[in-house]
Amino acid sequence: MIVHKRKVVLVGAGMVGMSFAYSALNQAICDELVLVDIDRKRAQGEAMDLNHGVAFSPSSMKIYAGGYEDASDADIVVICAGVNQKPGESRLELLQRNTQVFGSIIEPVVRSGFSGIFLVATNPVDIMTRVAYELSGFNSNRVFGTGTTLDTARLRYLLGEYFSVDPRNMHAYVIGEHGDSEFVPWSQAMLATKSVVDICEQSGGKFCVEEMQRISTQVREAAQKIIEAKKATYYGIGMAMSRIVRAVFSGENSVLTVSARLRGEYGQKDVYAGVPCLVNRNGVDRLLELNLTEEERKLFADSCNILQENYEGISL
Ligand code: NAD
Repeated sequence: MIVHKRKVVLVGAGMVGMSFAYSALNQAICDELVLVDIDRKRAQGEAMDLNHGVAFSPSSMKIYAGGYEDASDADIVVICAGVNQKPGESRLELLQRNTQVFGSIIEPVVRSGFSGIFLVATNPVDIMTRVAYELSGFNSNRVFGTGTTLDTARLRYLLGEYFSVDPRNMHAYVIGEHGDSEFVPWSQAMLATKSVVDICEQSGGKFCVEEMQRISTQVREAAQKIIEAKKATYYGIGMAMSRIVRAVFSGENSVLTVSARLRGEYGQKDVYAGVPCLVNRNGVDRLLELNLTEEERKLFADSCNILQENYEGISL
């Protein structure tokens, strides 16, 4: 019997990378996990530490520290390498430093013969994903980023709290840049199949649209608040990455707001931004274009313009 092993190479064994690795182990997301880091000793220590937990996990995952050559037969290369966001520092300010880091990663991965999927989490994630796309030369369905997956999860959680409804029945998305210009297209936000705007208007004052604005601000500022309190965010994004990788390996056709390359959708081209996409074994199988209002299309265009301008400022 030939059994295909689900193999992931994780580049960047820092807080985000190891949060992903820890949740992947606990959820048995893959069969083989290779940790690659410029700090080889750190990757070795992390591999040892995780291996000692295998006996307590639902998985018999093979975990070891390796190099880029290990990507040759991998299904997914997850990139979390880079420098961390400092208090007060915008995600876009990280751009130049992290572009250099990517130069040293993508080229040897591609040279190994890797023919799988790149999943990028390094910030600013939309631009770094575009950098990975350009440097790899891969088809864009095989290069995508975590985008606004975590922001969307935060939004659905807060909406669930507000309406006292299971977040899984709240269907709403954060789209655009994973950062300051991201926004919620409220015209597309539903509680089951009912528009939340209609619910607010018909609730006789019990629920209000102003509260929706407060919730979207809370989502947008969440990362900065966590950074102020504990210097970095990692558990949530690590779990979001596990969720995405599971959607790929299980061929789920799940809708996730990953960072994907726009090819005319919403009137945008080439730029990478967080939008609802169907994710399966092909990576981003397709983008599901939302029916945005004029105002929402303008907000989306503004967000894409910011991403485009910043991308144009870098030399690959
Ligand atoms: P960290 O400093 O803990 O880890 C980064 C790791 O990258 C370190 O182990 C470092 O040695 C490694 N590294 C640096 N340069 C490298 C290179 N050239 N090759 C290989 N490895 C290299 O940082 P972190 O908290 O894990 O954050 C990692 C990235 O994830 C940051 O860019 C951060 O902003 C981003 N992040 C993204 C999201 C999101 O929603 N997408 C959320 C949180 C953090």
